Amino acid sequence: MFARPRVVGIGESLRDSWSKRWVEGCVGSRLLHEGLLVLMADSLSPEERSQRMSLVRGKDTKPEMIIRSLLHRSGYRYRLHVRDLPGSPDLVFPSRKKVVFVHGCFWHRHACRLGARLPKSRVGFWRSKLEANRRRDLRTRRRLRRAGWRVLVIWECQIQKWTAERMLAKLRSFLDD
Ligand SMILES: [Zn+2]
Repeated sequence: MFARPRVVGIGESLRDSWSKRWVEGCVGSRLLHEGLLVLMADSLSPEERSQRMSLVRGKDTKPEMIIRSLLHRSGYRYRLHVRDLPGSPDLVFPSRKKVVFVHGCFWHRHACRLGARLPKSRVGFWRSKLEANRRRDLRTRRRLRRAGWRVLVIWECQIQKWTAERMLAKLRSFLDD
């Protein structure tokens, strides 16, 4: 087991935190992912942080688990990681012909602050790797749509910032449409 990333101090610059987090993150992508969440959490205002808490109950919870539990509590039933569909979507609603992906902003190159980050070393390597991820996601979504599926992507940063009510409203409008 790895040591848990410590919470970034208020006075610590983001760049310093990022470098340290990156070194720790090299041990495993899951740890890096959590490190990014911790980093991001500390850049929120107190107001944003308290809003976020209504959706993110514990900081150990993976973004996908938060969405799964929100949907399950609201009565939706789904299949998980269906391998015979392009991209093995995280949540599949077969009778509705809809799928939901829960994407980490860093790995899937979201157009947000978290998604714009690059490690300080081997920048070229990471840029092309992450760009390849983004292109693969585009292809996956296209293939799903061509096969008659509708696709919703929920981003890690939305899970961090949005209230449970707002997130549920978005999911409902997609799933019940
Ligand atoms: Zn994002």
